Amino acid sequence: MMRQFELVELVKSYDANADEGALNRAYVYSMKAHGAQVRASGDPYFSHPVEVAGILAQMKLDAASIVTGLLHDTVEDTVATLDDIDRVFGPEITRLVDGVTKLSRIELQSDQTKQAENFRKLVLAMSEDIRVLLVKLADRLHNMQTLHFIKSDEKRRRIARETMDIYAPLAERLGMQRMKDQLEDLAFAELHPDARASILARRDFLRDKGAGIVPRILAELHRKLEEGGVANAVVSGREKSAYSIWRKMQRKNVTFEQLADLMAFRVMVDDVGDCYHALGIIHSAYHVVPGRFKDYISTPKPNNYRSLHTGVIGPEQQRIEVQIRTREMHDVAELGVAAHWTYKHGAPTTEGPQYRWLRELLDILDHAAGPEEFLEHTKLEMFQDQVFAFTPKGDLIALPRGATAVDFAYAVHSEIGDTCVGAKINSRLVPLRTQLQNGDQVEIVTSKAQTPSPTWERFVVTGKARARIRRFIRTQQRTQYLDLGRAIVQKAFRQEGQEFSERPLEAVLKTFNCSTVEDLYAAVGQGLATGRAVVNAAFPQQHEPKAKVVSLDRARRRAKRNDIAVPIRGLIPGMALHFAGCCHPLPGDRIVGIVTTGKGVTIHTIDCETLESFADTPERWLDVAWSNEDDAVHVGRLNVTIANEPGNLGSLTTVIGKQGGNISNLKITNRSSDFFEIMIDIEVGDVKHLTTIIAALRANPVINSVERARG
Ligand code: MN
Repeated sequence: MMRQFELVELVKSYDANADEGALNRAYVYSMKAHGAQVRASGDPYFSHPVEVAGILAQMKLDAASIVTGLLHDTVEDTVATLDDIDRVFGPEITRLVDGVTKLSRIELQSDQTKQAENFRKLVLAMSEDIRVLLVKLADRLHNMQTLHFIKSDEKRRRIARETMDIYAPLAERLGMQRMKDQLEDLAFAELHPDARASILARRDFLRDKGAGIVPRILAELHRKLEEGGVANAVVSGREKSAYSIWRKMQRKNVTFEQLADLMAFRVMVDDVGDCYHALGIIHSAYHVVPGRFKDYISTPKPNNYRSLHTGVIGPEQQRIEVQIRTREMHDVAELGVAAHWTYKHGAPTTEGPQYRWLRELLDILDHAAGPEEFLEHTKLEMFQDQVFAFTPKGDLIALPRGATAVDFAYAVHSEIGDTCVGAKINSRLVPLRTQLQNGDQVEIVTSKAQTPSPTWERFVVTGKARARIRRFIRTQQRTQYLDLGRAIVQKAFRQEGQEFSERPLEAVLKTFNCSTVEDLYAAVGQGLATGRAVVNAAFPQQHEPKAKVVSLDRARRRAKRNDIAVPIRGLIPGMALHFAGCCHPLPGDRIVGIVTTGKGVTIHTIDCETLESFADTPERWLDVAWSNEDDAVHVGRLNVTIANEPGNLGSLTTVIGKQGGNISNLKITNRSSDFFEIMIDIEVGDVKHLTTIIAALRANPVINSVERARG
């Protein structure tokens, strides 16, 4: 285990300004906090955070990252709290430790590998500071290095699988090739020990067989470059990892026999000009293997990897692969994001225009307000328009940003979406329209009696939810129009003194462009044809004189003639039926329906002032009646005047609340120095409920006047 002064000296070796005091405090703090805890290896637990800090120091990260490495398990595994950390180490370290702790908790939530991709995105989305991820990766690397101490086969395999599926790709995304290779190789050893052993044996055999070739190639390449005028070129050979060979064999169904299969040669030079110069020398000295040349300098990979790749038939007549890069490109390729701290701490080599991207990235890291901004600027933006939430079982659901509880319900299962009545987010009951945040745990409450509501369509954002809701509304709407239309036609028959029968209707289908009687009902329900027009067509000889302009009173009386009213039971508001926004009819009110072309029926109270404009079209009036089984919530609207004095508005809302009325909207429509006129929408059961509220308001001295809105 690395000792305290060794760790401090290592950090000081690359960062002379590092906060020595904080490093020392963290070392001692972690040692005390973990106390007598022991790892599976039998080592004191404290050795783990120290090793993690050591890995971070080898990556030359800043002191804050090293301190976080030392403290990363204290909040999760000891009695230490974030407040304690804050007192001793300040807000920056607290934020970093909190981030690592949160990531560890997510890790415990779900172990389904099929969700690996989502999980990886979640990890990215939830990392406020890229250093959180770096500490987490170092933590994982040390856990993988000590994996063999864990006794349970299943646990070892799960951790290895997770490393392969999540952490290695994450390291790659951050451009950390070395970290990725190490994680993959350790996971590979656990998951496929036999395959790895045979690949390594084969590699050793080929290496021994070609003994002497590699040094000759290195010397030859170096000589050619020097003759060509590239100064300071360093040529090296690197064995490919067992896992990368294995991957290639999986992909291409090949065995490996050639040098190019197990070695890659690398040329490191001073600057970008030298890179292309070296490429020219190699291409003119050797035959080029077609299709192997790639210029990642002019077009870097999304993770900022930059190099020239080429393949040639090299010295010794062997096919070889060569990577050409500057030293800075090399560090970035090996360390990825982690390399940026190295350059931040004073190396003057990042000045040229070719390092603009690096400076920009550092700038973003310094100034990014949050994960969204960072992700957006570093090409990881593919995740920032998404939000990730958990089911109660810990399954991860990925949704577009802005998604609501209803979207979540539909994403889990169409049935759950269709029947959802409520949602609990992080155990708190919330409205279905609530937008989800990253990491929310969502529990959907369902009821067999529930059906999709047309109002949901206004706030859902996923295609699946919208399609299901629309389809339901379409089928439902047709049924509703059909029922309503049948009732209207039956009523029209009665008014004409005709016995109702569908036969005369079949004869006039063509007149109304319908192919079935049901189509005709639906058309009438939708207001595309009137009941009277249908009856007149069916019985032309008894044609009554055309409806003429009548007085409003007469229209009202006619509508409420002793015909049997059309019951609005079972009609869903928002489909074939609409409640007028002018008078807000409530169960118990005397009501009348106005047929609106293409929309169905709008319900008004019989005394609504708006009805005046329909006085000259009596054929659109429809007698309707409330059904008894109505237990829906209705909205009543009041106009209230109160004196402009402190506390009066409070008294007003208190009275309404005490009477069980829920205020859904409140608007000041007029204000003078003495009075406020206020419009209030209240959710009530029926007109009696609203009348009770009105009476209670009138009984209160601070309220000047209360009236129901009349259109
Ligand atoms: Mn740990």
